[in-house]
Amino acid sequence: MKIYNTMTRQKEEFQPIHEGKAGIYVCGPTVYDYIHIGNARPMIVFDTLRRYLTYKGYDVNYVSNFTDVDDKIIKRANEEGVDASVISERYIEEVKKDMAAMNVQEASTHPKATEEIPDMIEMVKTLIEKGHAYEVNGTVYFRTRSFSEYGKLSHKNIDELESGHRAEAHQMKVSGEDEKEDFLDFVLWKPKKEGEPYWDSPWGQGRPGWHLECSVMSKKYIGDVIDIHAGGEDLIFPHHENEIAQSEAANGTQFARYWMHNAFLRIDGEKMSKSLGNFFTIREISEKYPLQIIRFFMLSAHYRSPLNFSDELVEAAKSGLDRIVTAYEKVKELAEKSEAGTMTPEEEENAAKLSDYITRFEAAMDDDLNTADAISVIFELVKFSNSTTGEASSKAYCEALQGTISKLCDVLGIIVEQEKELLDADIEALIEERQSARKNKDFARADAIRDELAARGIALLDTREGVKWKRV
Ligand code: AMP
Ligand code: ZN
Repeated sequence: MKIYNTMTRQKEEFQPIHEGKAGIYVCGPTVYDYIHIGNARPMIVFDTLRRYLTYKGYDVNYVSNFTDVDDKIIKRANEEGVDASVISERYIEEVKKDMAAMNVQEASTHPKATEEIPDMIEMVKTLIEKGHAYEVNGTVYFRTRSFSEYGKLSHKNIDELESGHRAEAHQMKVSGEDEKEDFLDFVLWKPKKEGEPYWDSPWGQGRPGWHLECSVMSKKYIGDVIDIHAGGEDLIFPHHENEIAQSEAANGTQFARYWMHNAFLRIDGEKMSKSLGNFFTIREISEKYPLQIIRFFMLSAHYRSPLNFSDELVEAAKSGLDRIVTAYEKVKELAEKSEAGTMTPEEEENAAKLSDYITRFEAAMDDDLNTADAISVIFELVKFSNSTTGEASSKAYCEALQGTISKLCDVLGIIVEQEKELLDADIEALIEERQSARKNKDFARADAIRDELAARGIALLDTREGVKWKRV
């Protein structure tokens, strides 16, 4: 498989450090609110990368963090008058629900920054010992100029960066950052402020800087060298550049072999972001469209191309997905009903052509995860399926088509097999289980059952006469 590496600006053949294994680290969200559909793009794209590498036989270790200590979380906690952990725990749960609804698999590990503080302190200590970091008044800074390759990912020149920063010198003074040795230095550890969460450290009570988290969590759960590091393109500078500086300076070895960055999801030609206020949360969108459609929409463009979000394009994705699901259901139904067991010679000839579709699908995916072309191959496959099947088709031929369609869709995380409707008895059994979970104060389980039912179109109503339910 070829991957476009942001570092070398070229497509390169993917060669992992350990044969047959792939360690992938994807920067995860800061959990202070519901995620927006822009945030969903890296989740869906890199989940698809993971699925494809797994399909190709790699043993994938997929690590994606939750940044659960951050100014935005603290601000929100102060507004609500609760502990920061209440906010982060709440939104981690919500992000996980959104991920499940988009058929994004749970990571092998979802580390949380607040649970990895001792290792972060260790890395800061190492950096100080090696002369790459220094402390001033309880703040530890990375000495950027001590890392001679700084700027290699974003292709920025350190001297140009320096002059850019000089213009901000006044602002630095105001914010107290003029204590740094150099404008380019960035924070590894910062002292606590009143009302903020903090941890003890050799430099006093405080908390880690954001960039440090990823360097430490990727090292712990993957190793000093990771195969693929990924995230949105806004993270290239300074976040990933700083991660490289910290990790390579501390570990004395290359940090990541391949860097993958998705382009932005836009709305009306502008990037979608919280700060611009032009965003929709996944939750809002899910009221309008099943999230499977959103997944399909995201994959209908190449991940390095900007993608515009509009009702028109989502509607187009909806009809595209419908076409695939309908074709799948047709062959499935025909297979179930068919009386002819074995294939006719003509069907055998057609079945032999199925491997061509698989080969072309793989060629698209091997070309830097070209999901747009891979989807075109699936469209051709369903066209072929529709035109070569009918009432007289054999079971074996219909099953071969069914298997090929679902195999390729599965790599993309697209579900073609519609869930069977829940039977009344199943619903009542789940309601009973929820009642006893509540009695045992297992509210997490009780909520999970309610959410599962809601996801399958069953609304619960708690009344004085007990729980009532209806299909919505
Ligand atoms: P954040 O919580 O802002 O750090 O974002 C989490 C992830 O979403 C990062 O990988 C960002 O690069 C990515 N991201 C944020 N906004 C967008 C967008 N509009 N389109 C694509 N990716 C985005
Ligand atoms: Zn990161």
